[in-house]
This record gives sequence, C-alpha cells and structure tokens, in this order.
Amino acid sequence: MELSWRRVRVPLREPFVTAHGAVSDRELILVSLRAADGLEGHGEAAPLETYDGVAIDTVARALEDCRPVLAAYPDAAPVADVLARCSEATVVAPALSALDLALWDLAGRRVREPVWRLLGAARPPRVTVNLTIATTDRSSAAREAAQARVDGFRTIKVKVGVGDDAGRLAAVRAFAGPEIAIRIDANGAWSHDQARAALDALEPVGLELCEEPVHGAATTRRLWTEVGVPLALDESAHDPDAMTRPAADALCLKLGRCGGISGTIDAAMRARALGYDVYLASTLDGPLGIAGALHAAAVIAPRRASGLATLALFEGRPDPLPAVRGAIAPAAGPGLGEGLLDWYPR
Ligand SMILES: [Mg+2]
Repeated sequence: MELSWRRVRVPLREPFVTAHGAVSDRELILVSLRAADGLEGHGEAAPLETYDGVAIDTVARALEDCRPVLAAYPDAAPVADVLARCSEATVVAPALSALDLALWDLAGRRVREPVWRLLGAARPPRVTVNLTIATTDRSSAAREAAQARVDGFRTIKVKVGVGDDAGRLAAVRAFAGPEIAIRIDANGAWSHDQARAALDALEPVGLELCEEPVHGAATTRRLWTEVGVPLALDESAHDPDAMTRPAADALCLKLGRCGGISGTIDAAMRARALGYDVYLASTLDGPLGIAGALHAAAVIAPRRASGLATLALFEGRPDPLPAVRGAIAPAAGPGLGEGLLDWYPR
C-alpha cells in the first residue's frame, strides 16, 4: 500500500478553553492508503500537543517510519497484521491510529461493508453524545445549555478549573433544567486538596461525574474514596497504575491515544474487565476520527454519553456527522462512511 498524507488546518468557531489553555484552530494530518488496484482508504491523526504532549511533526515522522512497512503489503491484508508490523516501526499512538482508521476504511471499501459490520457488530451504532461547553463566559454557557436542551442532548459537559466554575455551573444547571446530566472536566488542573474542596462545593449542582479532577491514577484513587461525585480518568487513563486496579468509576478513551479502532476496543475490554465504566471522546478530531469512534462504539456500546459531538465546534464546515436528539450515527456507505473527505480543506 502506498502511503500519502498532508496537513490541514481548520479554524474553530470560538476558542475552545480548557485548563490546558485555549485552542482556536486545529491542525490535523489526513492520511491515505492506496492499494495496488487503486482502491483507497482514509484516516486522520489528531494530536493535540497541549493535551496529549504529541507534536504534529512527531506524528509526521512516525508515519514516514511506517511507509516501508506499508509498501510491503500491496493489497488486502488483515488490519491486525499490518498494524502489528507498523507498531514495530513506531510507538507514536496518533500515527498508528491514523493508519488503523485508513486500514479499516480500505478493508470496508474492498468488501463494500461498513466498518461496524467488519468489527462483528449486529447493528449500526447510534451513539449517545454530550454537548461540550468550553467557554469561560457565564452568559454564553447559559445560552449553550439552553440550546443543548432544545436540541435534545441529555448530557452537557462543562470545562472547569477555568474562571468562575461555580457561577458558570449554576447558570448551566438553571438553563439546562433539572433532568440533564452535567459532567465536568478539570483536565487535571486541581491539586488533591483543591479537587476535594471544589467537588464538595460543586456537588449540589448535581453532577454526573468529574473527568480528570487531578493528574495520575494514584491521586485520583485517593480522591475517589473521599468525595461523593463519581470520577473518570481521561488524561490519566493510560497511567499504568490505572490498569492494575480501578482508580475511578469510569475511563474516557480516545482513538488517538489507543492507536485507533482496534486499540480502543481492546482498551475498553480490558478496562471493563477491571470494573471501569467506559465512554469515548475526541480531541477535536475531524470526521474520520469521529467516524472511527462511532464504529468502535458499535462494539463497545458505552452506557454513558461520549464526547463525540465536537464537529459542530469547527468554523464554516458543514457537519457530516451531526448529533440528532443527542446521538450520532455513522455516515452510510462502506468503510468509515461516505462524504467525510469533503470536510477537509484542499
Ligand atoms: Mg477530558
């Protein structure tokens, strides 16, 4: 298979503010694999250095490291075989994820089947998703919460550890209504003592869970025994200590960190076996990454809302995978689905 890739930059509608800082545009790598018979599969890498510490140049180099491996497979080959060989060439997870997506897309196109069916799922996924509010402005947050309710979302996620969290959350609760689940995400901004105080203070808002209140599985595990709010690991989901025994109620898994669809399904099964609840999220991925997560979700079947409704945050690009009444289905067609490539700037 012949590898090609290019960088694309896509602006966000508004700066996406988290405890890691603000993101106002997103650079992604669009990856294509072309088989000897001309059939193509597509994937993307969505590293976010401020979040996962992986620079886009590192991903580009890792893809090049895999080029000779891919060239040794001229045509159809099992995805697992090709990926295993690529993982000997690089350990950079977002690069492996991009190749995994392109390999599944290609495999689906070859047999004219959607990826969820190749993965063994009985029916197409319809994945319950949360709306994410990543603004520090209280009135904007209230307006977005009211709109989320109108649009049929059942879970709203609010970034915390930024500005007046209590005031913003009170406004979100007031405008979202009593029935919507509110998830908060501190992106590890708090120390143990700060997290304990903040969660005690914010608990009366009625919280579904707090994602990454502090950094590290051990610190989270300690906090977990002390607070009433359920906790989830996100950035620390890949802390080796998290996979020895549970450190929280749930794990948030991302394709880019797990090495794609295959790695995410594998991580989800291992996490479940330990007793974790599992849900999926994007790191402001493009539609190929979101589609990959949707197909993986057909097998994983998360019970909680997943953070995949992020395409609406991009400026000037029609959303090919829109949330409808708080859920997203993959696009029709073989592989990862049709109509996703048009989203990427030429
Ligand atoms: Mg998070």
